Amino acid sequence: MKTTTRVAVIGGGVVGCSVLYHLTKLGWSDVMLLERSDLTSGSTWHAAGGFHTINGDTNMAALQGYTIRLYKELEAITGMSCGLHHVGGVTLADTQDRFDMMLAERAKHRHMGLDTRIVTPEEIREIAPVTNIEGIIGGLYDPLDGHLDPSGTTHAYAKAARMQGATIETQCMVRETNQRPDGTWDVVTDKGTIHAEHVVNAAGLWAREVAAMAGVYLPLHPMEHHYIVTDDIPAIYERGDEHPHVMDPAGESYLRQEGRGLCIGFYEQRAKPWAVDGTPWDFGHELLPDDLDKISDSIEFAYRRFPVLSEAGVKTVIHGPFTFAPDGNPLVGPVPGLRNYWSASAVMAGFSQGGGVGLMLAQWMTQGECERDTASFDVARFGTWTTPGYTRPKVIENYQTRFSVAYPNEEKPAARPFRTTPMYDIFDAMGAVWGQQYGLEVPNYFAEGGEPRYETPSFRRSNAFDATAREVRAVRGGVGINEIQNFGKYAVTGPKARNWLDRIMAGRIPGPGRISLTPMLSEAGRIIGDFTVTCLGEEEFRLTASYSAQAYHLRWFDRHLEDGVAVENVSDRITGFQIAGPQAREVLAACTRDDVAALRFLDARRMTVGMAECIVQRVSYTGDLGYELYCDAMSQRSLWHTLWEAGQAHGMVVFGMRAMMSLRLDRLFGSWLREYSPDYTPAETGLDRFIHWSKDTPFIGRAAAEAERATGPARVLAAFRVDAADTDVHGYEPVWLDGEVVGFCTSGGYSHHLGQSIAFGFVPKDADHPGLEVEIEILGERRAARRIDTAPWDPDGARLRG
Ligand SMILES: Cc1cc2nc3c(=O)[nH]c(=O)nc-3n(C[C@H](O)[C@H](O)[C@H](O)COP(=O)(O)OP(=O)(O)OC[C@H]3O[C@@H](n4cnc5c(N)ncnc54)[C@H](O)[C@@H]3O)c2cc1C
Repeated sequence: MKTTTRVAVIGGGVVGCSVLYHLTKLGWSDVMLLERSDLTSGSTWHAAGGFHTINGDTNMAALQGYTIRLYKELEAITGMSCGLHHVGGVTLADTQDRFDMMLAERAKHRHMGLDTRIVTPEEIREIAPVTNIEGIIGGLYDPLDGHLDPSGTTHAYAKAARMQGATIETQCMVRETNQRPDGTWDVVTDKGTIHAEHVVNAAGLWAREVAAMAGVYLPLHPMEHHYIVTDDIPAIYERGDEHPHVMDPAGESYLRQEGRGLCIGFYEQRAKPWAVDGTPWDFGHELLPDDLDKISDSIEFAYRRFPVLSEAGVKTVIHGPFTFAPDGNPLVGPVPGLRNYWSASAVMAGFSQGGGVGLMLAQWMTQGECERDTASFDVARFGTWTTPGYTRPKVIENYQTRFSVAYPNEEKPAARPFRTTPMYDIFDAMGAVWGQQYGLEVPNYFAEGGEPRYETPSFRRSNAFDATAREVRAVRGGVGINEIQNFGKYAVTGPKARNWLDRIMAGRIPGPGRISLTPMLSEAGRIIGDFTVTCLGEEEFRLTASYSAQAYHLRWFDRHLEDGVAVENVSDRITGFQIAGPQAREVLAACTRDDVAALRFLDARRMTVGMAECIVQRVSYTGDLGYELYCDAMSQRSLWHTLWEAGQAHGMVVFGMRAMMSLRLDRLFGSWLREYSPDYTPAETGLDRFIHWSKDTPFIGRAAAEAERATGPARVLAAFRVDAADTDVHGYEPVWLDGEVVGFCTSGGYSHHLGQSIAFGFVPKDADHPGLEVEIEILGERRAARRIDTAPWDPDGARLRG
């Protein structure tokens, strides 16, 4: 056996083999896969082998599209069969909400180049004749859907990797992974120790145990899953063509032809987590005992939807475990806190996603970054706050809602409340309707009087509309207050702090007492952060950015850290409030003896507010006159009482995230992972105006940003007023121009202050001009939209700066 390798991939399931293949494809051939038994010995061998492109998350859908297209390439390279059956598939809708979701999905597919189509109940009967279409109002057909041979496909990946130099060692159990001081790894196996530069955890059902060998926790959990194969059914085998897949979200089932019969699997409500205290090492090529009681309701429903099932006996019952992360997406990328340790785990749909996961990880390892935004599957989207106690209920919820309608405004209830600030009970008593970000409870809005404490999930405007309007009015007309716990906050200190920031950030690093806004760029010039930088002293800075991006940003900071600078994540130690609106200055002045009037826009000062020591920053994402007051979490309640009591004389109102996201539209402020993400560049989004081109420091991403500046971007982000009466843009809706899809939206919403629906979207640079008129497709309907050329409210910033 080899004793040194550049990469040791642990796990020979479909995911590990895909990672191995993609590493070789991208030029790393000194790579090795270690499998404790034979290839496919985890979840892979008993999978139903179905694949499909549809995914509510656009980047996941792209990964799935890549995976499915890859199989033909694999067959061509290896001469092996993946057992492909491209039979197409239809997803059924029996409610208007489900149908709305399909319309929204179909619309996204237009600019993704996916050839799906909306079908009528009659068309469904023709496409998938075993379906009882009673109560069905339509469906979404995807010609790419199909299934394959799980084992053949895994072996094809393995063969393709071997052909390009990879080594595969089976019957080779990894017992320990020990890091050397230089960041490389000793991988201790039953066959000896291997010295590897990098380790990839692709251990599937055992990914938790393998992660623990390196001292980290990966938030994933195995769930039990059933599918059934029927005896032969004449109505199936007498058909000329293979019957397509049918996904029936109402019945939480997926169905397809298997040989001369049918195969049907369920995501049942009586979902059971498996191996709660750890996956046994002696679990191998075996199944779990049948538990048909668990799926009896689903079977009953399926008999009504597919009556032919009741005529057939059951040939085989498959009951096996596979793993999920709390949100159902894979955990991919460099594991935060470890060097040269990568995750390719929690891939719950290995045959839809495995290829894309392999490609992304291989790009990350060999090229330093991926070609697209990884936020939805990056292992760093969960922080060190995740625990098995959090993960398990979330995974169960995810399993149960796998086929549920995914609403853009939905807040799923499992494992909540978990992380709360000292304000939780005060806000709760004030009627907070809670949302959740990165495990933290955040007020979305405040219900008053008899208003329900629950926002109805919807693709259209929800019951939060009136409350949000009320909060927006209060901010624009007087003063509002909200909590600013949900910012990621970092203290950057040391003699080299300024130099380091100048290298890490593309924008201007401010002088003492001042604040600046800056993009952070990857080497390839993509936006990996939009930061507020505050200079408290020559060697003391504060950064704020997205709360949910903490592990992501810290991982980047760690990678680029230098002597003479320290970065500390103070996100949960430092908290506070924002007060905003024309009366904000009076409120603050009433709470401190410090000179509030002297504080100019983008100034920062230490002030005592009431009894609390604060850093006060004159900025506001509401676009209004406003202040952010940061204090120690222990002083937060006292600061609240001070501000709230002083605010009463000015009609102060508490506001939540829904109002905040509406207010930002008035000034056309973009937002993280909507307008600003690694999928986009500064020149495309207008963030290039914050780049400090003349600074001497060769900041990261400079060469790429300069190259793009020279040529100009091919597309640009524009804002639009949309003719939309009962729904707004949420993201990825297509932008039509002269009968063609030319772009897509990044986000949007309703500006309660302006009384308008506003959207951000990309259009080709050549087509862009002031007053550009386009159509934006929302829920299947094209709505007229006209470009907004300057911020519709306070265009010269008089309120913000005044
Ligand atoms: C009943 C059922 C039906 C399914 N149907 C589908 C479907 O239709 N379509 C679809 O896309 N997905 C389906 N899945 C999910 C699919 O099986 C998984 O997504 C996929 O198999 C995950 O592959 P993996 O490589 O990540 O993990 P695994 O297949 O679990 O592979 C992990 C490998 O790592 C090895 N390993 C672990 N620890 C060590 C160690 N210490 N040393 C060495 N080796 C180690 C294991 O032996 C194993 O071979 C289904 C799952 C089930 C249970």
